[in-house]
Amino acid sequence: MGLFGGRKTVNVDADILVIGGGMAGTGATYESRYWGRDLKIVCVEKANIERSGAVAQGLYAINCYMGMQWGENQPEDHVRYARNDLMGLVREDLGYDVARHVDASVHKFEEWGLPMMRDPKTGRYQREGKWQIMIHGESYKPIVAEAARKAATEVYNRIMVTHLLMDSSKANRVAGAVGFNVRTGDYHVFRAKAVIIAAGGASHIFKPRAVGEGMGRTWYAPWSSASAYGLPIRVGAKMTQMENRIVLTRFKDGYGPVGAYFLHLKTYTQNGYGQEYESKWKEHTRALVGDYIDHHPVPTCLRNHAFLEEMKAGGGPIRMVTKEAFQDPHKETVGWENFLGMTIGQAVVWASQNIDPKHINPELTTSVPYVMGSHATCSGAWASGPEDLAPAEYQWGYNRMMTVDGLFGAGDTIGGSAHKFSSGSFAEGRIAGKAAVRYVMEKGRDQPQVSEQEYQDLERAIFQPLENYRVGRNEIVAGTVSPSYLLPIHGLQRLQKIMDEYVGGISAHYMTNGPLLNRGLELLTMLKEDMSRMGAEDLHQLQRVWELHHRLLAAESVTHHTLFREETRWPGYYYRGDHMKLDDQNWHCFTLSRYDRNTGKWAMEKAPVYHIID
Ligand SMILES: Cc1cc2nc3c(=O)[nH]c(=O)nc-3n(C[C@H](O)[C@H](O)[C@H](O)COP(=O)(O)OP(=O)(O)OC[C@H]3O[C@@H](n4cnc5c(N)ncnc54)[C@H](O)[C@@H]3O)c2cc1C
Repeated sequence: MGLFGGRKTVNVDADILVIGGGMAGTGATYESRYWGRDLKIVCVEKANIERSGAVAQGLYAINCYMGMQWGENQPEDHVRYARNDLMGLVREDLGYDVARHVDASVHKFEEWGLPMMRDPKTGRYQREGKWQIMIHGESYKPIVAEAARKAATEVYNRIMVTHLLMDSSKANRVAGAVGFNVRTGDYHVFRAKAVIIAAGGASHIFKPRAVGEGMGRTWYAPWSSASAYGLPIRVGAKMTQMENRIVLTRFKDGYGPVGAYFLHLKTYTQNGYGQEYESKWKEHTRALVGDYIDHHPVPTCLRNHAFLEEMKAGGGPIRMVTKEAFQDPHKETVGWENFLGMTIGQAVVWASQNIDPKHINPELTTSVPYVMGSHATCSGAWASGPEDLAPAEYQWGYNRMMTVDGLFGAGDTIGGSAHKFSSGSFAEGRIAGKAAVRYVMEKGRDQPQVSEQEYQDLERAIFQPLENYRVGRNEIVAGTVSPSYLLPIHGLQRLQKIMDEYVGGISAHYMTNGPLLNRGLELLTMLKEDMSRMGAEDLHQLQRVWELHHRLLAAESVTHHTLFREETRWPGYYYRGDHMKLDDQNWHCFTLSRYDRNTGKWAMEKAPVYHIID
């Protein structure tokens, strides 16, 4: 029997293929069924949609809810808010589109059984902040998964999607995807008329603060492995704002969320000497970004900036003042419940470090940078906007379709539209699902042509690391370092070291510059050359190999974008030491990239920012 003789190939034909069954993927699956009653809708997920993605553990707040039924906020208000937080640069058409639809999705969650907290006086949803509402959300993910399961023709769990397939008869049209079952090793070939990528964002491309056995303890889920970017980049989809990585201020070591503490418990921060420090850095920040520092609320990155400057000036540690709020038993309960519903690890860290927030003010830290499109950041694919809103330059087809025909995205996948969060990602999934159904009805009736050669070649490449390991393993008698293969953990640590030291990670205080970025690109290219020598001991490690491929492409993209934007737009997220100031004259624009897999070259360009809301 040959190398691939024992492996089953599973062929699946679908009308719509949803890759990733997190918040956006479940929304896309649900809505595709609503509009495409007789279509075959397939959702494919590398974990199990019951508990997958960033919301796997649950959430304590839904961070994007307008409250239009009570006249609390309007979509225009949300666009203004996101634009301010992102220092002027958002796709207002996409943001408005999410904001006008998001409330309806939240109402669905309640209808499906999600327990919402209500204000006892008004009967409305309990507000945590202007945009956030509080939930008992431990089961948030199983609830949306149930809706997707009932809507899908088939859900394939435990399939790691590694590559997209392209139509062999039509240029630039997607035709499906391939991947493998991480438990059985079966090879899966999905042919589809439209594909929706909803595979989450990217953690672990920069070196994390916790290393060794603790390296999984990061803010962002370690399983968010950049497939949302790696998959479309490889087939030439344009990406936007990939330099706009996010850094979060969170409780130290456990990365427990701070939103409920600041907004609901009204806690505040102090430096190591018990002093207020943010005002100290105001003029310094003004010199970098002008009057953004006077805006309300202060943009997230600028609050990080004050934290970082205070730490560098020797004012650390920065602490959250919890001792006052925790004297109130109700607030104390909310403080603990906040972790138990979404980040139990923080409660465990405090217990292990003898921190009772009623008596000790806990430390905060800034996280390693992450790449995502749905939080206070907007990296991702460049997508066509809604027909009734998007300026002509942002429209080339169907809503949320990327620059590849038939390829859609939602949630962390789509760039330019920040502050979607869980509810907005689900809503955007629904928007993409509806548009994909229309695409299939109008344009995609023909089954795309998939070349047998293409998916057979991909099969060989996908499983090659198992063979590399099997053969190379015989050259060593102990340990894990081999002369002929690289294990995924080694490749990952090499990637993280490059990104950390050259592209603005934690050990460089988020600082980089042109020469560093250029050297970083050289080192990333060398790592790329070594990727054909990856070794995988088992299917689990094989999944790690392909996650690394996706992370590496995303990291390359981040580095090219960071090099292209010659300014420091978001101090507190990263700094270009050679261009320390925000430069609205030259850089009030989006950055776009396109990767050519045949030449390995990246083409960069600018795209205009249109302000459609006053
Ligand atoms: C730590 C943290 C805290 C947050 N807190 C809040 C909060 O309090 N309130 C709030 O509203 N929002 C919160 N968010 C934001 C919210 O979680 C995201 O906006 C939302 O999950 C994004 O949806 P998504 O579908 O794009 O990604 P996800 O929900 O992460 O889903 C991505 C899915 O794709 C799958 N996948 C990935 N790669 C592949 C592949 N190659 N093949 C197959 N499947 C794949 C993953 O397993 C996962 O199921 C938080 C996010 C994080 C990271």
